[in-house]
Amino acid sequence: MEQHHQIAIIGAGTAGITVAAQLLLKDKNLDIAIIDPASKHYYQPAWTLVGAGTYDYKDTERDMGPLIPKGVKWIQEAVTTIDAEGNKLNTNKGTVISYDYLVVCPGLKYDYSLIEGLEETINKNDVCSNYTDPDYTWKVLQNFKGGVALFTQPATPIKCGGAPQKIMYLADDYFRKSGVRKDTTVVFATPGGVIFGVDPFKQTLMEVVDRKEIGLRFFHKITRIDAENKIAYFSIIANEDDPSKLFHNIGNCAEDVSAKKLSEAPSPAELFHNPKDIKTTQVSDTEIGIHYDMLHLAPPQAAPDFIQESPLAATEGPNKGWVPVDMNTLQHDKYPNVFALGDVAALPTAKTGAAVRKQAPVVVENLMHVMKQDGALTGSYEGYSSCPLVTGYGKMLLAEFKYNNVRDSDPLISKFVDTSKEQWTMWLLKKYMLPFMYWNMMLKGKA
Ligand SMILES: Cc1cc2nc3c(=O)[nH]c(=O)nc-3n(C[C@H](O)[C@H](O)[C@H](O)COP(=O)(O)OP(=O)(O)OC[C@H]3O[C@@H](n4cnc5c(N)ncnc54)[C@H](O)[C@@H]3O)c2cc1C
Repeated sequence: MEQHHQIAIIGAGTAGITVAAQLLLKDKNLDIAIIDPASKHYYQPAWTLVGAGTYDYKDTERDMGPLIPKGVKWIQEAVTTIDAEGNKLNTNKGTVISYDYLVVCPGLKYDYSLIEGLEETINKNDVCSNYTDPDYTWKVLQNFKGGVALFTQPATPIKCGGAPQKIMYLADDYFRKSGVRKDTTVVFATPGGVIFGVDPFKQTLMEVVDRKEIGLRFFHKITRIDAENKIAYFSIIANEDDPSKLFHNIGNCAEDVSAKKLSEAPSPAELFHNPKDIKTTQVSDTEIGIHYDMLHLAPPQAAPDFIQESPLAATEGPNKGWVPVDMNTLQHDKYPNVFALGDVAALPTAKTGAAVRKQAPVVVENLMHVMKQDGALTGSYEGYSSCPLVTGYGKMLLAEFKYNNVRDSDPLISKFVDTSKEQWTMWLLKKYMLPFMYWNMMLKGKA
């Protein structure tokens, strides 16, 4: 079966529906098809709260049908291949969709294969993830009887980079309420060298980490999970590009290991903050196993396979596999009738729904110009993204930033509060106002 549409949108997630709704508000006569096989749509930002038992998973889920803007044709199929030269898409049901203009926003996939043992143990054996099953995270927290609570994230790009630590702050708070915190060591092992890349949020978060007595381990990239023995293995990736400078023999972080490090290796202070005396297994100079009693992680993430295999994907460099677009206009590097946004776009900023909110109007504005062939791409995205960093029940700061880790602020929110400080009002925003805005305004093209 073959059909043609003026505009095809791949993916009816946060980005696809928002763009479709905004396009129709500009011109209700546009012929738009949105292709997505999913029958449900999720408000993923609330999964952090589900994992901490303070939001119902069912309330994050809605039927897809009623969310598709009226006037848009929903093709409930999965795109399998893209012929960008021929302006055609193929689906898993054999439909061929030709288009004049294409908007690419199918989100991302979880790539379990990048951590040995992950696929076999995710969502069981006290290995949980708010990304995959937040209800199970909540079960793990409730059943936790003390020991090492280990939190980590992979070295790939991930959506909502703050989510792996938000659940840690909530878990700490919950353990204090449930009485097990005194028997618990909370550790955050991250492949990065800082807890958060943007000031002044970084300072606030370091104060939170100190107040909560959380042990930080930097440059730790998770590589393997031994679920039976409850050990997570990490490569120490500081100076990964130059093995001669790698930190050697890190042993237990509480030890003084400075004598064993090579001259340009990171010092223990760069690798550890609030060192904790926990059980570790040293595998080699740069491999360490951390024994845990519960583990929360974000799975490694990548562009969906059909994107990686398509001519739309970057073929080399750090963006390999993702869709390369102009970082301001969001127009595809090679195909001027193609735009991409959301998690799949290769943009040097955090992948969030908040970023989509600022990207969607830019895609719409510039796509309208391309359709008019007036040569003007006036819409410009400056990299805005934000991360609501929940630091406990009833506490949140809102990290807002743009390209180059420069602090930014939404004029509406920053008028009322200092978003870099933990606030109860911000918690109300996260739990009540943002979900309301999402379903009733953003997905209707009005926010
Ligand atoms: C635990 C967690 C916490 C988060 N917290 C926040 C937060 O606090 N704030 C924030 O702003 N963001 C947060 N996010 C991130 C946010 O949800 C995403 O960045 C956002 O949903 C991205 O939108 P998208 O449209 O690119 O992808 P998605 O919303 O994931 O939608 C992608 C759509 O594409 C469809 N699709 C996939 N493959 C195909 C195919 N082959 N053919 C057709 N369609 C396809 C899917 O079915 C899906 O409907 C969080 C995410 C998680 C998981």
